[in-house]
Amino acid sequence: MSDCLFCKIVAKEIPAEIVYEDDQVIAFKDINPVTPVHILLIPKKHISDLTAIESEDKELIGHLHLTAVKVAEKIGIAKDGFRLVNNCKEYGGQVVYHLHFHLLGGKQLGTRPS
Ligand code: IMP
Repeated sequence: MSDCLFCKIVAKEIPAEIVYEDDQVIAFKDINPVTPVHILLIPKKHISDLTAIESEDKELIGHLHLTAVKVAEKIGIAKDGFRLVNNCKEYGGQVVYHLHFHLLGGKQLGTRPS
């Protein structure tokens, strides 16, 4: 999508601190981190939000989650643990409408997501 911020990161039209990339997904540092480790994981394919996933995306979404664990291991937060979050649409706090998961870690987080 030409006007999508994260599609522009995928296309390398906007710079990002990329920590992992393959043919299907890309992971990069959040520009405004809320935890010591704050990585965004996105599919390269433009999917607007969690509700827009189709059955043909099953493998892609599974791969995205496996990649989140791989990135957590690579960064060194897998042993202590981390949080993987998706904000879905307005009430879920979504700002960028290209599906993404926040990988949050590097400190003790609260027991309840807020
Ligand atoms: P959302 O609220 O789940 O849509 O989160 C969007 C996230 O994208 C926020 O945490 C922003 O800080 C982050 N963000 C926005 N623009 C950029 C960018 O250009 N590079 C990296 N992260 C970004």
